[in-house]
Amino acid sequence: MTNIVSGLIFDIRRYSVNDGPGIRTTVFLKGCPLKCAWCHNPESQDGSIEIIKRTRQLDGQTFLQTESCGYLTTTDELLEEIKKDSICFEESNGGVTISGGEPLFQPNFVSDFLIKLRKQGFHSALDTCGDSPNHIFSRITDLADLVLYDIKCISESLHITYTNRSNRVILENLYKLSSSGKPFIIRIPVIPNFNDNLTELILIDEFIRSLPNKPLKLELLPFHSIGLHKYNELEKTIPELHPPHDKLANIQLAESILLHY
Ligand code: SF4
Repeated sequence: MTNIVSGLIFDIRRYSVNDGPGIRTTVFLKGCPLKCAWCHNPESQDGSIEIIKRTRQLDGQTFLQTESCGYLTTTDELLEEIKKDSICFEESNGGVTISGGEPLFQPNFVSDFLIKLRKQGFHSALDTCGDSPNHIFSRITDLADLVLYDIKCISESLHITYTNRSNRVILENLYKLSSSGKPFIIRIPVIPNFNDNLTELILIDEFIRSLPNKPLKLELLPFHSIGLHKYNELEKTIPELHPPHDKLANIQLAESILLHY
């Protein structure tokens, strides 16, 4: 009997060159335990189908357009969709990246999909914030070929203030991942008034230095406010601590401290 595993996704983006090696197809899953104040994908946070309300202009008139965000799919259906890109993967040494939201929010769906990708011979990358119970984290990262791991900051109180969650498990899981020998890339969103200061950047640097194995590389992701309008479209409140969108993060400082891995 076939085992049918369903999950909730909200987007599939093709020809991505920023989510791992080669040309990739990135699948975005819904649901995330964090509520980052700078999140530019607020439609990814809730683990349910949501309604987006957009205003459109046509012939000088304004129309309200509603559409749903998120749809259920099975891992078999998703694999069939992904297979359309196999030539791209072969030509570029690319593959599939599972992102979100937070993929580990739907562990059974992700593990089943990763197993199917492996059987198909597709390279897989898991893009995670690491906020998942240790046993789930280990079981699933073991199935991926590469892990893209986000670190926001090291100070726990700062993390709680800006993401609504402690980072203890996140840092534990990163240490564990590094000990396992699994290839990983660290990604750091550089956010004004949050982690673009000397104190926090040095703490991040010290933490990375303490890992048993170093990341393949470290990527800095500059803050942008492109997705700000989505909060209105979802009728969600922009987080009170949202970084000022007219202020640039101190990316040079972050580069000078962190870009030697
Ligand atoms: S971890 Fe990513 S998806 Fe989740 S709230 Fe933070 S920025 Fe948004």
